[in-house]
Amino acid sequence: MICPDANDLQDLVRELHQQGSTWVPCGLGSRLDWGPPLQDCLPVSCGGLRGIVEHKPGDFTISVRAGTPLLEVQEALAPHRQWLAVDQPWGSQRLGSGSVGGLVARGLAGGYRQRYLGIRDQLIGLSLLRADGIAANAGGRVVKNVAGYDLMRLFCGSWGSLGLITELNLRTLPLAPMRRGLLVQGALNELGALSQWLLGSRLSPERVDWWSAPLAAAAGLEAAPLLLIALASISTESLAEQQAAIAAHSRLPLRQLEAEALESLLACARGDEAMPGAGRHQAGAPDDDLGSEPAWLLRLGVSPDQVPQALASPELEGLVIDLAAGSGLGLAWTPAGAGARGDLQPEAVLRLRQQCQRLGGWLTVLHQPLGHAVPAWDDAPSRPLIERVKHQFDPQRQLAPGRLPGVAKP
Ligand SMILES: Cc1cc2nc3c(=O)[nH]c(=O)nc-3n(C[C@H](O)[C@H](O)[C@H](O)COP(=O)(O)OP(=O)(O)OC[C@H]3O[C@@H](n4cnc5c(N)ncnc54)[C@H](O)[C@@H]3O)c2cc1C
Repeated sequence: MICPDANDLQDLVRELHQQGSTWVPCGLGSRLDWGPPLQDCLPVSCGGLRGIVEHKPGDFTISVRAGTPLLEVQEALAPHRQWLAVDQPWGSQRLGSGSVGGLVARGLAGGYRQRYLGIRDQLIGLSLLRADGIAANAGGRVVKNVAGYDLMRLFCGSWGSLGLITELNLRTLPLAPMRRGLLVQGALNELGALSQWLLGSRLSPERVDWWSAPLAAAAGLEAAPLLLIALASISTESLAEQQAAIAAHSRLPLRQLEAEALESLLACARGDEAMPGAGRHQAGAPDDDLGSEPAWLLRLGVSPDQVPQALASPELEGLVIDLAAGSGLGLAWTPAGAGARGDLQPEAVLRLRQQCQRLGGWLTVLHQPLGHAVPAWDDAPSRPLIERVKHQFDPQRQLAPGRLPGVAKP
């Protein structure tokens, strides 16, 4: 991987274009190997594009260079009691939080999407370098923008296949002064009824996440499916009111978590740590730490109303799974050397993919053990359109060879 200085980047991209070389834009290289394997190409890091260009606390906007680590942005916003309303990515403790450019290029969000929507909804503008080295801009620096072609959303989830993002203008949000978690464990149908009511209610939880029994066990909890609800508000009274409303609709007991305990559980759900004394001694728990390199890391989605059915299906049984209730999107993984499903075979992953498709979703393989070659994703119905867009941006097919979202074999 090369990490050019910010001032040299455009010249380098022009040169690569003239030479017809293949290359891939990357952030800090923390998760570059996730997804379809790249064919021979030069990774060009944005690590030299670092720092905050401008933060306007009064406007709730921030402009950052693409290679800036997500944590650095959150740290700069915290003294202003603001934040970028996104989760930390999976594996942050081991891999780092990654760059903001990489976050947008992958276009994926976690459970906070329930209240704050996805990263593409926080994005108000971006600057980029095209494959031929020409600089371009999309959107602007203010929340209200003139309408036009929405290039920003095209680059969200582009996986480096359309161009190199150099700068981003993002919306920030005030940090809620009060946070609390609620844990509910029990039968899937009862959790399903509670989740359905909650998502349709006038309450606005920050997140409502489904955990499979093995994830609960690995976090030191009873090995049973659970709903993790996060509430945020300006006062403890309001939190108590929300909690009382939820308790009134739940046939299962609620366990209250203060903000710190909630954070620890969220760290477990992104594979960062097991709760103290947790996991391997519990029935159904994986044998290994959640924080180790996963054998399999799968991104999956099902229709939100099908989540309980998905968790009950034999194909998903025994997997460590975290799915957002409102979107049905999340991750499943098998810790390396894990007993329960660490030995997951490719055929089982393909069956899992079919099951997700039957339940209205899909499955992407982000990481798999050496020697396996399950296709990361299938062709999307819009493949012809995706390929036409790719041709417009990168006619010489220089960028991210072997990797085009929605196209199984580019
Ligand atoms: C809650 C949450 C959940 C997430 N879930 C997933 C998930 O399930 N799967 C997943 O793959 N990612 C997911 N992400 C995104 C992941 O966090 C980012 O990939 C990572 O943060 C980027 O790290 P990096 O800067 O080291 O990028 P790298 O690892 O270097 O690159 C990551 C990807 O982004 C592209 N890229 C990076 N920077 C640029 C740039 N400046 N211009 C153009 N392309 C670029 C690369 O080509 C590569 O495809 C999630 C993020 C969050 C916050």
